[in-house]
Amino acid sequence: MIDLHSHTDQSDGTFTPAELIAEARRIGLEALAITDHDTLAGYDLALPIAQAANFDLVCGVELSTRFHGGSVHLLGYFPKGDPGPAFRSWLHSLLASRRERNSRLIENLRALGIDINLDEVEREGKSLTGRPHFARVLVAKGYARDLTHAFEEYLGESSRAFAQRQEVPIAEAIAHLRNAGGIASMAHPARVAKNHWETLNVWVGELAGLGMQAIEVHHSDHSPEGVAYYSSLAERYGLTITGGSDFHGGNKPQIRLGTGRNGNVQVPVELLHRLRSLA
Ligand code: AMP
Ligand code: FE
Ligand code: FE
Ligand code: ZN
Repeated sequence: MIDLHSHTDQSDGTFTPAELIAEARRIGLEALAITDHDTLAGYDLALPIAQAANFDLVCGVELSTRFHGGSVHLLGYFPKGDPGPAFRSWLHSLLASRRERNSRLIENLRALGIDINLDEVEREGKSLTGRPHFARVLVAKGYARDLTHAFEEYLGESSRAFAQRQEVPIAEAIAHLRNAGGIASMAHPARVAKNHWETLNVWVGELAGLGMQAIEVHHSDHSPEGVAYYSSLAERYGLTITGGSDFHGGNKPQIRLGTGRNGNVQVPVELLHRLRSLA
């Protein structure tokens, strides 16, 4: 078994890259992709550790993109390794929109009378600062009971302080991934098009036309019916199948590396072989 979707503490997970590799080996995974949001820092730190242990680590990233007026997460895989300096510098440029969103989020929270500043939130993060780091500060200061409550009250899309991030158009993200030799895969389609399957069908067709080569069929948020439907979309549009737990450590404690939620994820190593033959 493998896991092609995981996060370290360089984005919004809680495991260090070393801890994540150790956990992957402990549970007997044959391969792991680190797919941090907007950064390769976790992969970079994990690579020498994986190599020393002769463990198969796949380079990946997860991007928040704009499509049909909504947000779509796109996974990028580089099965041959490093995407190179041009892609890295483009990735770096995406962090500006995150910082700008974070400033607005601080303003919104302060307008609600909350005592919080960007410095203390940024101290929680490593390569980047995300909403889970805001959530941790809000809990520590007693403004929320737990992380979920912090998202409900202050950070989530329908909460009081929500700040929308400026996202990159999905076509642009696909083009950058492909130019760097990467493979684009639609992340957790259950969260796309409000899980309306006919709309999803049309959108996946469009994205295949734009060069997206894969779709994440296996994911902790997917029902068995969903898995069957997303597989049928893969077949219809000639897409490769990817899958993973979307492990975030203590930030999503119900989800386990490799096996997801109560064992609902199982990703065979053959999927990685197919991904590699595409690259
Ligand atoms: P950001 O990229 O900074 O906008 O933060 C998004 C991240 O916040 C997601 O990748 C999740 O890890 C986390 N997240 C989003 N909604 C929730 C929620 N309701 N509860 C816990 N974590 C969440
Ligand atoms: Fe995340
Ligand atoms: Fe995601
Ligand atoms: Zn993810």
